[in-house]
Amino acid sequence: MVSEFDVAIVGGAFSGAATALLLKRRRPETRILILEKASEFDRKVGESTTEVSSCFLTKVLGLTSYLGHEQLVKQGLRLWFANRPDQPFDDCVEVGARYQARLPTFQVDRAKLDAHLLELARAAGCEVWKPAKVTRCELAGTSGQSLGVKVEGEEREVHCRWVVDASGRAAFLARKLGHFRQNTAHPINAVWARFTGVRDWDSYEWREKFPDYAAASRTGRAWATNHLMGQGWWCWIIPLKGGDFSAGLVYDSRLFKLPEGASLGERLREHILNHPVGREIFRDAKVVEHDARAYSALPYYSAQVCGEGWAIAGDAASFIDPLYSPGLDLCAYTTSVVSDLLVRSLGGEDTTERQRYYNEQFVTTYRYWFETLYQDKYFYMGEADLMSAALLLDVGTYFIGLVRPVYGNPERAFLELPFEGTPGRLFAGMMKFYNRRLSALAKNRIAHGVTGTQNAGWRELYDGFVPDFRVQKLIRKGLFRWWRAELLNLRFLFASPKPAVAAPTGAAVEAG
Ligand SMILES: Cc1cc2nc3c(=O)[nH]c(=O)nc-3n(C[C@H](O)[C@H](O)[C@H](O)COP(=O)(O)OP(=O)(O)OC[C@H]3O[C@@H](n4cnc5c(N)ncnc54)[C@H](O)[C@@H]3O)c2cc1C
Repeated sequence: MVSEFDVAIVGGAFSGAATALLLKRRRPETRILILEKASEFDRKVGESTTEVSSCFLTKVLGLTSYLGHEQLVKQGLRLWFANRPDQPFDDCVEVGARYQARLPTFQVDRAKLDAHLLELARAAGCEVWKPAKVTRCELAGTSGQSLGVKVEGEEREVHCRWVVDASGRAAFLARKLGHFRQNTAHPINAVWARFTGVRDWDSYEWREKFPDYAAASRTGRAWATNHLMGQGWWCWIIPLKGGDFSAGLVYDSRLFKLPEGASLGERLREHILNHPVGREIFRDAKVVEHDARAYSALPYYSAQVCGEGWAIAGDAASFIDPLYSPGLDLCAYTTSVVSDLLVRSLGGEDTTERQRYYNEQFVTTYRYWFETLYQDKYFYMGEADLMSAALLLDVGTYFIGLVRPVYGNPERAFLELPFEGTPGRLFAGMMKFYNRRLSALAKNRIAHGVTGTQNAGWRELYDGFVPDFRVQKLIRKGLFRWWRAELLNLRFLFASPKPAVAAPTGAAVEAG
Protein backbone atom coordinates (compact mmCIF):
# COMPACT_ATOMS: atom_id res chain seq x y z
CA MET A 1 0.00 0.00 0.00
CA VAL A 2 1.49 3.39 -1.04
CA SER A 3 0.13 6.69 0.30
CA GLU A 4 0.95 10.13 -1.12
CA PHE A 5 1.29 13.29 0.98
CA ASP A 6 2.92 16.71 0.70
CA VAL A 7 4.50 16.37 4.15
CA ALA A 8 5.11 13.37 6.40
CA ILE A 9 6.05 14.12 10.02
CA VAL A 10 7.92 11.50 12.06
CA GLY A 11 6.73 11.88 15.70
CA GLY A 12 3.38 13.30 16.79
CA ALA A 13 4.28 14.81 20.16
CA PHE A 14 4.84 18.53 20.86
CA SER A 15 7.13 19.37 17.92
CA GLY A 16 5.42 17.15 15.35
CA ALA A 17 1.91 18.38 16.16
CA ALA A 18 3.01 22.04 16.46
CA THR A 19 4.76 21.94 13.06
CA ALA A 20 1.62 20.43 11.51
CA LEU A 21 -0.65 23.06 13.09
CA LEU A 22 1.52 25.97 11.95
CA LEU A 23 1.69 24.54 8.43
CA LYS A 24 -2.05 23.95 8.19
CA ARG A 25 -2.79 27.43 9.46
CA ARG A 26 -0.77 29.11 6.71
CA ARG A 27 -1.39 26.59 3.92
CA PRO A 28 -4.66 24.71 4.61
CA GLU A 29 -4.51 22.68 1.38
CA THR A 30 -1.28 20.92 2.46
CA ARG A 31 -1.74 17.15 2.77
CA ILE A 32 0.01 16.24 6.02
CA LEU A 33 0.56 12.80 7.54
CA ILE A 34 1.68 12.52 11.18
CA LEU A 35 3.29 9.23 12.20
CA GLU A 36 3.48 8.51 15.92
CA LYS A 37 4.89 5.24 17.22
CA ALA A 38 3.34 5.38 20.73
CA SER A 39 -0.25 4.22 21.12
CA GLU A 40 -0.63 6.59 24.11
CA PHE A 41 1.71 9.38 25.24
CA ASP A 42 3.26 8.91 28.64
CA ARG A 43 4.07 11.57 31.24
CA LYS A 44 7.51 12.42 29.98
CA VAL A 45 9.88 15.19 31.05
CA GLY A 46 9.45 18.72 29.68
CA GLU A 47 6.85 19.78 32.23
CA SER A 48 7.93 23.29 33.13
CA THR A 49 7.40 26.00 30.53
CA THR A 50 9.32 29.30 30.32
CA GLU A 51 8.18 32.76 29.24
CA VAL A 52 9.32 32.02 25.67
CA SER A 53 7.72 28.59 25.29
CA SER A 54 4.58 29.89 27.03
CA CYS A 55 4.39 32.78 24.58
CA PHE A 56 4.49 30.18 21.79
CA LEU A 57 1.79 28.10 23.51
CA THR A 58 -0.53 31.01 24.28
CA LYS A 59 0.01 33.63 21.56
CA VAL A 60 1.07 31.45 18.63
CA LEU A 61 -0.79 28.19 19.23
CA GLY A 62 -3.67 29.94 21.06
CA LEU A 63 -3.84 27.55 24.03
CA THR A 64 -4.39 30.08 26.86
CA SER A 65 -7.81 28.80 27.78
CA TYR A 66 -6.81 25.11 27.51
CA LEU A 67 -3.74 25.66 29.68
CA GLY A 68 -5.69 27.61 32.29
CA HIS A 69 -8.36 24.92 32.60
CA GLU A 70 -6.34 21.73 32.17
CA GLN A 71 -2.80 22.44 33.42
CA LEU A 72 -1.26 24.33 36.33
CA VAL A 73 -0.15 27.97 36.31
CA LYS A 74 3.56 28.12 37.23
CA GLN A 75 4.88 30.60 39.77
CA GLY A 76 8.45 31.19 38.63
CA LEU A 77 11.72 29.47 39.43
CA ARG A 78 13.14 29.15 42.95
CA LEU A 79 16.56 27.85 43.95
CA TRP A 80 17.38 26.35 47.34
CA PHE A 81 20.89 25.95 48.77
CA ALA A 82 22.22 24.26 51.90
CA ASN A 83 25.64 23.30 53.19
CA ARG A 84 24.82 20.27 55.32
CA PRO A 85 21.98 17.72 55.46
CA ASP A 86 20.98 18.63 59.03
CA GLN A 87 20.75 22.37 58.36
CA PRO A 88 17.42 23.82 59.59
CA PHE A 89 14.90 24.31 56.78
CA ASP A 90 14.51 28.04 57.42
CA ASP A 91 18.28 28.61 57.45
CA CYS A 92 18.62 27.42 53.83
CA VAL A 93 19.26 30.04 51.14
CA GLU A 94 16.29 30.79 48.90
CA VAL A 95 16.48 32.64 45.57
CA GLY A 96 13.25 33.46 43.73
CA ALA A 97 10.42 35.94 43.24
CA ARG A 98 8.55 37.60 46.09
CA TYR A 99 5.33 38.03 44.04
CA GLN A 100 3.25 36.09 41.50
CA ALA A 101 4.83 35.60 38.07
CA ARG A 102 4.40 38.61 35.75
CA LEU A 103 4.03 36.59 32.52
CA PRO A 104 2.04 33.40 32.04
CA THR A 105 3.99 30.15 32.40
CA PHE A 106 2.71 26.64 33.12
CA GLN A 107 3.47 23.27 34.70
CA VAL A 108 2.26 20.78 32.12
CA ASP A 109 1.42 17.12 32.20
CA ARG A 110 2.97 16.26 28.84
CA ALA A 111 0.84 13.18 28.28
CA LYS A 112 -2.20 15.49 28.26
CA LEU A 113 -0.63 18.41 26.40
CA ASP A 114 0.85 16.29 23.60
CA ALA A 115 -2.42 14.38 23.14
CA HIS A 116 -4.34 17.68 23.01
CA LEU A 117 -2.00 19.16 20.38
CA LEU A 118 -2.20 16.04 18.25
CA GLU A 119 -6.01 16.15 18.39
CA LEU A 120 -5.90 19.79 17.28
CA ALA A 121 -3.71 18.78 14.32
CA ARG A 122 -6.14 16.01 13.42
CA ALA A 123 -9.08 18.41 13.72
CA ALA A 124 -7.24 20.87 11.45
CA GLY A 125 -7.24 18.20 8.71
CA CYS A 126 -3.98 16.29 9.21
CA GLU A 127 -4.02 12.51 8.85
CA VAL A 128 -2.66 10.76 11.94
CA TRP A 129 -1.38 7.17 12.02
CA LYS A 130 -0.90 6.00 15.60
CA PRO A 131 0.70 3.70 16.59
CA ALA A 132 2.90 3.83 13.50
CA LYS A 133 6.66 3.45 13.62
CA VAL A 134 8.81 4.82 10.83
CA THR A 135 11.44 2.19 10.12
CA ARG A 136 12.95 3.33 6.85
CA CYS A 137 13.55 6.58 4.98
CA GLU A 138 14.94 7.26 1.51
CA LEU A 139 15.62 10.86 0.62
CA ALA A 140 15.80 11.89 -3.04
CA GLY A 141 15.60 15.70 -2.88
CA THR A 142 13.32 17.26 -5.49
CA SER A 143 12.36 13.77 -6.78
CA GLY A 144 10.49 13.09 -3.51
CA GLN A 145 11.03 11.09 -0.32
CA SER A 146 9.76 7.71 0.75
CA LEU A 147 9.20 6.22 4.19
CA GLY A 148 8.63 2.67 5.38
CA VAL A 149 6.09 2.58 8.22
CA LYS A 150 5.04 -0.27 10.48
CA VAL A 151 1.34 -0.05 11.36
CA GLU A 152 -0.21 -2.91 13.39
CA GLY A 153 2.27 -5.46 12.03
CA GLU A 154 1.75 -4.29 8.45
CA GLU A 155 4.45 -2.52 6.38
CA ARG A 156 3.24 0.57 4.53
CA GLU A 157 4.99 2.86 2.08
CA VAL A 158 4.59 6.65 2.18
CA HIS A 159 5.70 9.04 -0.58
CA CYS A 160 5.98 12.75 0.15
CA ARG A 161 7.70 15.96 -0.94
CA TRP A 162 8.97 16.79 2.55
CA VAL A 163 9.85 14.70 5.58
CA VAL A 164 9.94 16.47 8.96
CA ASP A 165 11.79 14.66 11.70
CA ALA A 166 10.17 15.42 15.08
CA SER A 167 11.17 12.11 16.65
CA GLY A 168 12.76 13.62 19.80
CA ARG A 169 15.87 12.00 21.26
CA ALA A 170 15.52 9.14 18.78
CA ALA A 171 16.93 11.77 16.35
CA PHE A 172 15.85 9.58 13.46
CA LEU A 173 17.29 11.60 10.56
CA ALA A 174 20.37 13.02 12.32
CA ARG A 175 21.52 9.48 13.11
CA LYS A 176 20.58 8.07 9.72
CA LEU A 177 22.37 10.85 7.83
CA GLY A 178 25.45 10.82 10.08
CA HIS A 179 24.86 14.34 11.47
CA PHE A 180 24.32 13.28 15.10
CA ARG A 181 26.96 14.73 17.49
CA GLN A 182 27.20 14.02 21.22
CA ASN A 183 28.14 17.11 23.26
CA THR A 184 30.98 15.49 25.21
CA ALA A 185 32.03 18.80 26.83
CA HIS A 186 28.91 18.52 28.98
CA PRO A 187 28.69 15.04 30.57
CA ILE A 188 25.31 15.33 32.30
CA ASN A 189 22.72 12.67 33.14
CA ALA A 190 19.20 12.65 34.57
CA VAL A 191 17.02 10.44 36.79
CA TRP A 192 13.40 11.31 37.44
CA ALA A 193 10.07 10.03 38.78
CA ARG A 194 6.64 11.21 39.76
CA PHE A 195 5.72 11.27 43.47
CA THR A 196 2.57 11.30 45.56
CA GLY A 197 2.32 12.59 49.12
CA VAL A 198 4.64 15.59 48.74
CA ARG A 199 3.86 17.99 51.60
CA ASP A 200 2.20 21.33 51.00
CA TRP A 201 4.75 23.93 51.99
CA ASP A 202 2.26 26.76 51.62
CA SER A 203 -0.01 25.25 54.27
CA TYR A 204 -1.09 26.79 57.57
CA GLU A 205 0.89 24.12 59.42
CA TRP A 206 4.01 25.25 57.57
CA ARG A 207 3.28 28.88 58.41
CA GLU A 208 3.09 28.00 62.10
CA LYS A 209 6.29 25.97 61.97
CA PHE A 210 8.36 28.46 59.92
CA PRO A 211 6.79 31.93 60.41
CA ASP A 212 9.74 33.95 58.99
CA TYR A 213 9.88 31.76 55.90
CA ALA A 214 6.10 32.15 55.40
CA ALA A 215 6.17 35.92 55.88
CA ALA A 216 9.08 36.51 53.51
CA SER A 217 7.25 35.68 50.28
CA ARG A 218 3.91 37.13 49.10
CA THR A 219 3.33 34.25 46.69
CA GLY A 220 3.16 30.52 47.33
CA ARG A 221 6.23 28.39 46.77
CA ALA A 222 4.71 25.02 45.88
CA TRP A 223 3.53 25.98 42.37
CA ALA A 224 6.94 27.30 41.38
CA THR A 225 9.54 25.12 39.71
CA ASN A 226 11.72 24.55 42.78
CA HIS A 227 15.33 23.49 42.33
CA LEU A 228 17.40 21.98 45.11
CA MET A 229 21.01 22.83 44.34
CA GLY A 230 24.24 20.99 45.14
CA GLN A 231 27.80 20.70 43.95
CA GLY A 232 27.69 19.05 40.53
CA TRP A 233 23.93 18.48 40.61
CA TRP A 234 20.50 20.03 40.88
CA CYS A 235 17.07 18.56 41.45
CA TRP A 236 13.76 19.82 40.07
CA ILE A 237 10.45 19.66 41.92
CA ILE A 238 7.47 20.40 39.68
CA PRO A 239 3.82 20.22 40.78
CA LEU A 240 1.33 18.70 38.35
CA LYS A 241 -2.40 19.25 38.12
CA GLY A 242 -4.16 16.72 40.33
CA GLY A 243 -1.56 16.66 43.10
CA ASP A 244 1.35 14.52 41.89
CA PHE A 245 4.83 16.02 41.74
CA SER A 246 7.56 15.42 39.21
CA ALA A 247 11.06 15.36 40.68
CA GLY A 248 14.31 14.71 38.91
CA LEU A 249 18.02 14.90 39.44
CA VAL A 250 20.46 16.16 36.82
CA TYR A 251 24.16 15.69 37.51
CA ASP A 252 27.55 16.13 35.94
CA SER A 253 29.45 12.86 36.06
CA ARG A 254 32.76 14.72 36.52
CA LEU A 255 31.49 15.94 39.89
CA PHE A 256 28.81 13.67 41.25
CA LYS A 257 27.90 10.00 41.44
CA LEU A 258 24.39 8.85 42.30
CA PRO A 259 24.61 6.58 45.36
CA GLU A 260 23.50 2.95 44.93
CA GLY A 261 20.07 1.88 46.22
CA ALA A 262 17.19 -0.56 45.88
CA SER A 263 15.59 1.01 42.79
CA LEU A 264 15.99 4.09 40.63
CA GLY A 265 13.02 5.82 42.28
CA GLU A 266 14.28 5.03 45.79
CA ARG A 267 17.81 6.24 44.97
CA LEU A 268 16.32 9.51 43.76
CA ARG A 269 14.13 9.81 46.87
CA GLU A 270 17.08 9.14 49.18
CA HIS A 271 19.08 11.82 47.41
CA ILE A 272 16.27 14.37 47.78
CA LEU A 273 15.95 13.55 51.49
CA ASN A 274 19.64 14.42 51.91
CA HIS A 275 18.87 18.08 51.25
CA PRO A 276 17.19 19.93 54.17
CA VAL A 277 14.43 21.33 51.94
CA GLY A 278 13.86 17.94 50.30
CA ARG A 279 13.80 16.29 53.72
CA GLU A 280 10.94 18.53 54.89
CA ILE A 281 8.73 18.25 51.84
CA PHE A 282 9.48 14.67 50.68
CA ARG A 283 9.35 13.11 54.15
CA ASP A 284 6.15 11.13 53.34
CA ALA A 285 6.45 11.11 49.55
CA LYS A 286 6.15 7.88 47.58
CA VAL A 287 7.42 7.11 44.09
CA VAL A 288 4.64 6.41 41.59
CA GLU A 289 5.25 2.85 40.42
CA HIS A 290 6.72 2.23 36.94
CA ASP A 291 7.28 5.96 36.49
CA ALA A 292 11.01 6.28 37.28
CA ARG A 293 13.34 6.82 34.32
CA ALA A 294 16.94 7.77 33.57
CA TYR A 295 18.88 9.14 30.61
CA SER A 296 22.65 9.33 30.39
CA ALA A 297 24.67 11.61 28.08
CA LEU A 298 21.87 14.17 27.76
CA PRO A 299 23.26 16.80 25.34
CA TYR A 300 23.67 16.35 21.60
CA TYR A 301 22.95 18.17 18.33
CA SER A 302 22.60 17.56 14.64
CA ALA A 303 25.37 19.17 12.57
CA GLN A 304 22.85 19.71 9.74
CA VAL A 305 19.12 20.31 10.24
CA CYS A 306 17.67 20.49 6.74
CA GLY A 307 18.24 19.75 3.07
CA GLU A 308 16.06 19.59 -0.02
CA GLY A 309 12.98 17.59 1.04
CA TRP A 310 13.85 17.11 4.72
CA ALA A 311 14.03 19.15 7.92
CA ILE A 312 14.45 18.50 11.65
CA ALA A 313 12.52 20.15 14.50
CA GLY A 314 12.47 19.94 18.30
CA ASP A 315 14.56 17.48 20.27
CA ALA A 316 15.32 15.56 17.09
CA ALA A 317 17.65 18.49 16.29
CA SER A 318 19.31 18.99 19.68
CA PHE A 319 19.19 18.99 23.44
CA ILE A 320 21.35 21.01 25.83
CA ASP A 321 20.44 20.98 29.52
CA PRO A 322 17.11 21.23 31.36
CA LEU A 323 18.28 23.67 34.10
CA TYR A 324 16.35 26.69 32.78
CA SER A 325 13.78 24.52 30.92
CA PRO A 326 14.89 25.61 27.43
CA GLY A 327 13.68 22.41 25.70
CA LEU A 328 10.30 23.71 24.59
CA ASP A 329 11.84 27.12 23.74
CA LEU A 330 14.00 25.41 21.13
CA CYS A 331 11.00 23.40 19.95
CA ALA A 332 9.10 26.69 19.48
CA TYR A 333 11.86 28.22 17.34
CA THR A 334 12.62 25.14 15.25
CA THR A 335 8.97 24.22 14.54
CA SER A 336 8.37 27.84 13.46
CA VAL A 337 11.40 27.93 11.16
CA VAL A 338 10.65 24.49 9.67
CA SER A 339 6.95 25.17 9.04
CA ASP A 340 7.82 28.50 7.41
CA LEU A 341 10.40 26.80 5.19
CA LEU A 342 7.88 24.18 4.06
CA VAL A 343 5.06 26.67 3.41
CA ARG A 344 7.39 28.62 1.12
CA SER A 345 8.78 25.56 -0.65
CA LEU A 346 5.35 24.00 -1.24
CA GLY A 347 4.19 27.38 -2.56
CA GLY A 348 6.89 27.23 -5.24
CA GLU A 349 9.49 29.55 -3.68
CA ASP A 350 13.20 28.77 -3.95
CA THR A 351 14.21 28.07 -0.33
CA THR A 352 17.94 27.46 -0.82
CA GLU A 353 18.88 30.62 1.12
CA ARG A 354 16.49 29.77 3.97
CA GLN A 355 17.89 26.24 4.19
CA ARG A 356 21.41 27.68 4.37
CA TYR A 357 20.30 30.09 7.14
CA TYR A 358 18.72 27.29 9.21
CA ASN A 359 21.77 25.00 8.88
CA GLU A 360 24.30 27.70 9.73
CA GLN A 361 22.42 29.59 12.41
CA PHE A 362 21.17 26.45 14.18
CA VAL A 363 24.69 25.23 14.94
CA THR A 364 25.71 28.75 16.09
CA THR A 365 22.62 29.02 18.29
CA TYR A 366 23.30 25.63 19.87
CA ARG A 367 26.96 26.44 20.53
CA TYR A 368 26.30 29.88 22.02
CA TRP A 369 23.31 28.69 24.06
CA PHE A 370 25.50 25.96 25.54
CA GLU A 371 28.65 28.03 26.11
CA THR A 372 26.88 31.07 27.59
CA LEU A 373 24.56 29.30 30.02
CA TYR A 374 25.69 25.76 30.72
CA GLN A 375 29.35 25.02 30.09
CA ASP A 376 31.03 24.12 33.41
CA LYS A 377 28.06 25.53 35.35
CA TYR A 378 27.88 22.39 37.50
CA PHE A 379 31.10 23.51 39.21
CA TYR A 380 29.21 26.44 40.76
CA MET A 381 25.73 24.91 40.91
CA GLY A 382 25.98 24.42 44.68
CA GLU A 383 27.41 27.87 45.54
CA ALA A 384 24.46 30.11 46.51
CA ASP A 385 26.11 33.47 45.83
CA LEU A 386 27.63 32.43 42.48
CA MET A 387 24.48 30.70 41.27
CA SER A 388 22.21 33.57 42.32
CA ALA A 389 24.49 36.00 40.43
CA ALA A 390 24.21 33.70 37.40
CA LEU A 391 20.42 33.42 37.71
CA LEU A 392 19.95 37.20 37.81
CA LEU A 393 22.28 37.72 34.84
CA ASP A 394 21.10 34.72 32.80
CA VAL A 395 17.39 35.39 33.25
CA GLY A 396 17.84 39.16 32.90
CA THR A 397 19.57 38.80 29.53
CA TYR A 398 17.00 36.15 28.49
CA PHE A 399 14.24 38.71 29.12
CA ILE A 400 16.03 41.34 27.02
CA GLY A 401 17.26 39.06 24.25
CA LEU A 402 14.39 36.58 23.81
CA VAL A 403 11.29 37.31 25.92
CA ARG A 404 10.99 40.94 24.77
CA PRO A 405 11.08 40.18 21.01
CA VAL A 406 8.73 37.18 21.16
CA TYR A 407 6.10 39.20 23.01
CA GLY A 408 6.65 42.15 20.66
CA ASN A 409 6.00 40.19 17.46
CA PRO A 410 5.66 36.42 18.07
CA GLU A 411 5.23 35.34 14.44
CA ARG A 412 8.39 37.15 13.34
CA ALA A 413 10.55 36.58 16.42
CA PHE A 414 10.15 32.79 16.40
CA LEU A 415 11.59 32.75 12.87
CA GLU A 416 14.87 34.28 14.09
CA LEU A 417 16.99 31.80 15.98
CA PRO A 418 18.60 33.13 19.18
CA PHE A 419 22.13 34.66 19.07
CA GLU A 420 21.72 35.89 15.52
CA GLY A 421 24.14 38.38 13.91
CA THR A 422 26.37 40.94 15.64
CA PRO A 423 24.07 41.59 18.65
CA GLY A 424 23.93 37.81 19.20
CA ARG A 425 27.72 37.56 19.11
CA LEU A 426 28.09 40.49 21.54
CA PHE A 427 25.59 39.04 24.02
CA ALA A 428 27.24 35.63 23.70
CA GLY A 429 30.72 37.07 24.35
CA MET A 430 29.56 38.92 27.45
CA MET A 431 27.61 35.98 28.87
CA LYS A 432 30.42 33.51 28.18
CA PHE A 433 32.78 35.79 30.06
CA TYR A 434 30.78 35.97 33.30
CA ASN A 435 29.90 32.27 33.13
CA ARG A 436 33.59 31.40 32.76
CA ARG A 437 34.49 33.69 35.67
CA LEU A 438 31.81 32.20 37.94
CA SER A 439 33.00 28.68 37.25
CA ALA A 440 36.64 29.75 37.76
CA LEU A 441 35.69 31.22 41.16
CA ALA A 442 33.95 27.96 42.11
CA LYS A 443 36.90 25.84 40.97
CA ASN A 444 39.13 27.98 43.14
CA ARG A 445 36.85 27.40 46.15
CA ILE A 446 36.85 23.65 45.44
CA ALA A 447 40.64 23.64 45.10
CA HIS A 448 40.96 25.29 48.52
CA GLY A 449 38.32 23.09 50.16
CA VAL A 450 36.08 26.08 50.95
CA THR A 451 32.68 25.36 49.44
CA GLY A 452 29.16 26.20 50.57
CA THR A 453 30.19 28.94 53.00
CA GLN A 454 27.56 31.29 51.53
CA ASN A 455 24.78 28.69 51.73
CA ALA A 456 23.07 29.70 54.96
CA GLY A 457 20.95 32.44 56.45
CA TRP A 458 19.77 34.64 53.58
CA ARG A 459 17.04 34.99 50.97
CA GLU A 460 17.10 36.80 47.64
CA LEU A 461 13.43 37.56 46.96
CA TYR A 462 13.15 39.92 44.02
CA ASP A 463 10.14 41.66 42.47
CA GLY A 464 10.09 39.50 39.35
CA PHE A 465 11.49 39.74 35.81
CA VAL A 466 9.69 41.87 33.24
CA PRO A 467 10.53 42.28 29.55
CA ASP A 468 11.34 46.01 29.70
CA PHE A 469 13.95 48.44 31.06
CA ARG A 470 13.05 47.57 34.68
CA VAL A 471 14.95 44.29 34.27
CA GLN A 472 18.20 46.28 34.47
CA LYS A 473 17.70 46.49 38.27
CA LEU A 474 18.01 42.70 38.56
CA ILE A 475 20.93 42.56 36.14
CA ARG A 476 22.72 45.17 38.29
CA LYS A 477 22.06 43.06 41.37
CA GLY A 478 23.57 40.06 39.58
CA LEU A 479 26.65 42.04 38.58
CA PHE A 480 27.22 43.25 42.16
CA ARG A 481 26.90 39.74 43.50
CA TRP A 482 29.43 38.46 40.94
CA TRP A 483 31.89 41.29 41.72
CA ARG A 484 31.49 40.67 45.44
CA ALA A 485 32.45 37.04 44.80
CA GLU A 486 35.52 38.25 42.87
CA LEU A 487 36.57 40.27 45.94
CA LEU A 488 35.99 37.27 48.20
CA ASN A 489 38.22 35.26 45.88
CA LEU A 490 41.18 37.50 46.79
CA ARG A 491 41.44 35.59 50.08
CA PHE A 492 43.00 32.71 48.09
CA LEU A 493 45.73 34.94 46.69
CA PHE A 494 48.43 33.64 49.02
CA ALA A 495 46.82 30.32 50.06
CA SER A 496 48.01 27.07 48.49
CA PRO A 497 45.34 24.78 47.04
CA LYS A 498 44.47 21.41 48.57
CA PRO A 499 44.87 18.48 46.14
CA ALA A 500 41.30 17.07 46.23
CA VAL A 501 38.21 17.38 48.42
CA ALA A 502 35.21 15.15 49.01
CA ALA A 503 31.88 16.15 47.49
CA PRO A 504 28.89 15.98 49.89
CA THR A 505 27.86 12.70 48.32
CA GLY A 506 31.27 11.10 48.65
CA ALA A 507 32.25 11.55 45.00
CA ALA A 508 35.80 12.88 44.56
CA VAL A 509 36.00 16.36 43.09
CA GLU A 510 39.11 17.64 41.34
CA ALA A 511 39.43 21.31 40.56
CA GLY A 512 39.30 21.47 36.75
C1 LIG B 1 15.63 15.41 32.14
C2 LIG B 1 14.91 16.37 31.23
C3 LIG B 1 14.12 17.37 31.76
C4 LIG B 1 13.47 18.28 30.92
N1 LIG B 1 12.71 19.29 31.45
C5 LIG B 1 12.17 20.21 30.64
C6 LIG B 1 11.39 21.28 31.16
O1 LIG B 1 11.16 21.39 32.36
N2 LIG B 1 10.89 22.19 30.28
C7 LIG B 1 11.12 22.10 28.94
O2 LIG B 1 10.69 22.97 28.17
N3 LIG B 1 11.80 21.06 28.42
C8 LIG B 1 12.32 20.14 29.23
N4 LIG B 1 12.99 19.08 28.69
C9 LIG B 1 13.06 18.97 27.23
C10 LIG B 1 11.72 18.48 26.66
O3 LIG B 1 11.40 17.25 27.25
C11 LIG B 1 11.85 18.33 25.16
O4 LIG B 1 12.41 19.51 24.63
C12 LIG B 1 10.52 18.07 24.48
O5 LIG B 1 9.84 16.99 25.08
C13 LIG B 1 10.77 17.75 23.02
O6 LIG B 1 9.56 17.52 22.37
P1 LIG B 1 9.57 16.82 20.93
O7 LIG B 1 8.17 16.78 20.46
O8 LIG B 1 10.60 17.47 20.08
O9 LIG B 1 10.11 15.36 21.22
P2 LIG B 1 9.42 14.21 22.07
O10 LIG B 1 8.53 14.79 23.09
O11 LIG B 1 10.51 13.32 22.50
O12 LIG B 1 8.51 13.45 21.02
C14 LIG B 1 9.03 12.65 20.00
C15 LIG B 1 7.93 11.73 19.51
O13 LIG B 1 8.40 11.02 18.38
C16 LIG B 1 7.95 9.68 18.45
N5 LIG B 1 8.87 8.86 17.64
C17 LIG B 1 10.19 8.63 17.87
N6 LIG B 1 10.70 7.83 16.91
C18 LIG B 1 9.67 7.56 16.07
C19 LIG B 1 9.57 6.78 14.89
N7 LIG B 1 10.61 6.11 14.37
N8 LIG B 1 8.36 6.70 14.27
C20 LIG B 1 7.29 7.35 14.76
N9 LIG B 1 7.33 8.11 15.89
C21 LIG B 1 8.50 8.22 16.53
C22 LIG B 1 7.98 9.37 19.94
O14 LIG B 1 7.12 8.29 20.27
C23 LIG B 1 7.53 10.68 20.55
O15 LIG B 1 6.15 10.74 20.78
C24 LIG B 1 13.61 18.15 29.52
C25 LIG B 1 14.38 17.12 28.98
C26 LIG B 1 15.03 16.23 29.83
C27 LIG B 1 15.86 15.14 29.22
